[in-house]
Amino acid sequence: MSQRFHLALMIAAEFGAFIIAAGIGIALFVSQAVSPSLFVNGAILGALLVGAVAIPRLAFRHLIGCCCTNPACTGTAYPQGSSPIVYRCRTCGIEFETSVSEGEDESSTRR
Ligand SMILES: [Zn+2]
Repeated sequence: MSQRFHLALMIAAEFGAFIIAAGIGIALFVSQAVSPSLFVNGAILGALLVGAVAIPRLAFRHLIGCCCTNPACTGTAYPQGSSPIVYRCRTCGIEFETSVSEGEDESSTRR
């Protein structure tokens, strides 16, 4: 798949997962289905939101790559960083910056 499509799909997956997790988390929080404790419900909501964004992000950054933009290369590139997101090819090592930033998070400080 193209880099542009990959980026759009990754963001859509993160956003979609976040919305779904927020819906489930808020429903659990309001209904107190798991526990009547505010702390437990808050922790579940937080864990759902973090997990929902982290899972598609990890998948798109490590498992699902896009085609390298180098025409002489048939390798696979994966996104790294978050401000901005930079794609790096694992075969030829070429890096191409995108204009998209995801904001500061722990994955940007780990670089
Ligand atoms: Zn390449």
